[in-house]
Amino acid sequence: MKVAIASGKGGTGKTTVAASLAAVWPQPFYAVDLDVEEPNLRLFLNPNVHFVEKVGMEVPVADERKCTHCRACVELCQFNAISLLGETLMTFPEMCHGCGGCIAICPENALSAGQRELGELHWGSVGSTGFMMGRLRVGEAMSPPLMREAKSKLQTLLNRKNQDIIIDAPPGVSCPAVNAVMDTDVIVLVTEPTPFGLYDLKLACDAFVPLNKRMGIVLNRAGLGTDEVYRFCESRHLPIWAEIPYSREIAEAYANGHVLADYSQELRSIFVALSSKILATHRVDLENCHA
Ligand code: SF4
Ligand code: SF4
Repeated sequence: MKVAIASGKGGTGKTTVAASLAAVWPQPFYAVDLDVEEPNLRLFLNPNVHFVEKVGMEVPVADERKCTHCRACVELCQFNAISLLGETLMTFPEMCHGCGGCIAICPENALSAGQRELGELHWGSVGSTGFMMGRLRVGEAMSPPLMREAKSKLQTLLNRKNQDIIIDAPPGVSCPAVNAVMDTDVIVLVTEPTPFGLYDLKLACDAFVPLNKRMGIVLNRAGLGTDEVYRFCESRHLPIWAEIPYSREIAEAYANGHVLADYSQELRSIFVALSSKILATHRVDLENCHA
């Protein structure tokens, strides 16, 4: 199974929950950080990185000598990543989505495939658990192509081994967040009982409910703020799978880089129960699927 830990906004404790789930998950799995703009899971898990792989994307490179200025490529590109200024053909690699259409359509073979570096994939392990992390190149604007490559390589690996995947997804509800959760089985949404947390939880629900995934809530800093978040979850039939109490001690443990599940028996029990609920939910789905 694939489970994504997501949140409507940053700073809710999403990575803390992902790291703690990784600490108690009862069956073989890969811990994956797809928050490629700010991959922080490694700070909690301290993986041994075995190798780093560069990931790039094909972008067109123009040969002005061959170009007859027919405009076919310009008219094809939906992203304005190639244009003609008078008789000068210009390409804008940062805007290119790598579809390859312009290269295929050029009647003069004036466009060939070059590479734009997107970022890196770090492969490693935490004990006997596999670890993978994407890291976007500084200055790169588009994270989904790197995330797609990360997911595709991971899937190839997992087709040979039957293992679960725990994904630390990017925060928010924009394209990268949706991309990270869209082919998972279960989404764990981390929020907090504050007006900001509730606002972003509503956005996250609007973005993720249409994906038709199993979804449950982890309420971080429970006891802080109001009970509106409980009422919202009830109205949307969203189960609250775990509550992490609000305390200075827990905040300090987090700030010092501790994995909460390893910090105290009380916290460990919360995450063990959370992992059991996620697995039970998935088991029910599998049984319904096979019924
Ligand atoms: S590869 Fe696709 S996105 Fe990139 S410039 Fe060509 S047509 Fe546009
Ligand atoms: S399709 Fe080829 S020949 Fe036509 S404008 Fe583009 S690069 Fe030039």
